[in-house]
Amino acid sequence: MTTTNQFKGINNVRQFVSNSNRASIPCEINNCSFNAADQELDTVINHYIEHGFEILHIGTETEMRDGKLHFYTIVLFGSR
Ligand SMILES: [Zn+2]
Repeated sequence: MTTTNQFKGINNVRQFVSNSNRASIPCEINNCSFNAADQELDTVINHYIEHGFEILHIGTETEMRDGKLHFYTIVLFGSR
């Protein structure tokens, strides 16, 4: 069975999760020096929205460590 996760016009997807280092990727859009490390999640999301990104999904993730941990996950996309 073949599946695809591509959507027309969406070619730049970034996922950010609260309380995770997955948000620590440097922006580097148009040589931007913004680094999401140690930034609050809302600051990071607002930064990418300023670059023209749009919100594709906001949801929760649950992880099992010493009990259940809940995180917010936000997926943004840019059309360029
Ligand atoms: Zn940037």
